[in-house]
Amino acid sequence: MNYKTFDINNLVRKNIRGLSPYSSARDEYVSDGSKMVFLDANENPFENGVNRYPDPHQRKLKEVLAANKGVLASQILLGNGSDEVLDLLFRAFCEPKEDNIITLPPTYGMYKVLAGINNIGNKEVLLTQEFEPNVAEILKEANGNSKLLFLCSPNNPTANSFNSSLVKDLLENFKGLVVVDEAYIDFSKESSWITQLDQYPNLVVIQTLSKAYGLAGIRLGTCYASREIISVLNKIKAPYNVNELTQKRALERILDVNSVNLEVIDILTEREGLFRILQQIDFVEKVFASDANFILVKVDDATKRYNQLLEKGIVVRNRTTQPLCENTLRFTVGTKEENLKLINALRHITTA
Ligand SMILES: *Cc1c(COP(=O)(O)O)cnc(C)c1O
Repeated sequence: MNYKTFDINNLVRKNIRGLSPYSSARDEYVSDGSKMVFLDANENPFENGVNRYPDPHQRKLKEVLAANKGVLASQILLGNGSDEVLDLLFRAFCEPKEDNIITLPPTYGMYKVLAGINNIGNKEVLLTQEFEPNVAEILKEANGNSKLLFLCSPNNPTANSFNSSLVKDLLENFKGLVVVDEAYIDFSKESSWITQLDQYPNLVVIQTLSKAYGLAGIRLGTCYASREIISVLNKIKAPYNVNELTQKRALERILDVNSVNLEVIDILTEREGLFRILQQIDFVEKVFASDANFILVKVDDATKRYNQLLEKGIVVRNRTTQPLCENTLRFTVGTKEENLKLINALRHITTA
């Protein structure tokens, strides 16, 4: 089988294939402030803004996202954070105790945690020294039960985007679904893989409003794929998985894209400044190039420097236990004021 003759039905778990989803009252009619009388869902009729169940299909939100991303609304699934989207992928495609996923450490920890929760094998294939996917090794590790391959690009915590010809190679040769996690795409100079969905029926792209959009607190993750893949995920999601407050707030923010863009520009400017100054700190051994809103830095002794920063009230992420990340710290790019505090603290530590 090759990606051109890819059939999603071969990957879906047997019990999910035959499943018919729960049909809620709000599947049939959505309250839209019209004069319709809604006596179908056992809600409290007194209006307070959230007395009605939310739209289970998030139609308004998807309509705007579809236009922005150049896809059909039927190619979008929304979830309670990317974490829910990831979990749905496991539950739709991975048979516990039989199937496996492939992850590329050092990377986002959630793929491994979800594999554990769902009792799915996790085959780990280290990134190369340049933090790129090791294509030959990945394809060698994959077997008939390898359902999902997770590519995080830009990758957390290394901050680089993967070389697109390597990603293409994987899309064309891996037999399961290739899930590209683009949580940091809005900070990247690369374009999104969403533009390639028509080429690759085995491609799933995940984004989030938690990073560039500044809405980590409302929990909204987005998933883009073929209509066939999305309809499988829709079958198993909880009917009201994205609450009304989240749908409203997300819509407002997406429509106010100018504010988002201005903040992103600010963060990128700050990132470049921080990148230069970090290189001048005497215990810093290497500052890795960043295509995201954080910077990975190799220092002389990560745990010692982490604790010194903590004493000065600055919390960063110590990544020293991650493979290929010995003695590294990960700094999120903050506001100008926050970054100045970080730099001052680093300078004080140096001379102390
Ligand atoms: C932060 C992050 C997410 C976001 O997860 P949400 O559940 O949407 O907040 C997803 N993937 C990666 C790699 C991340 O770093």
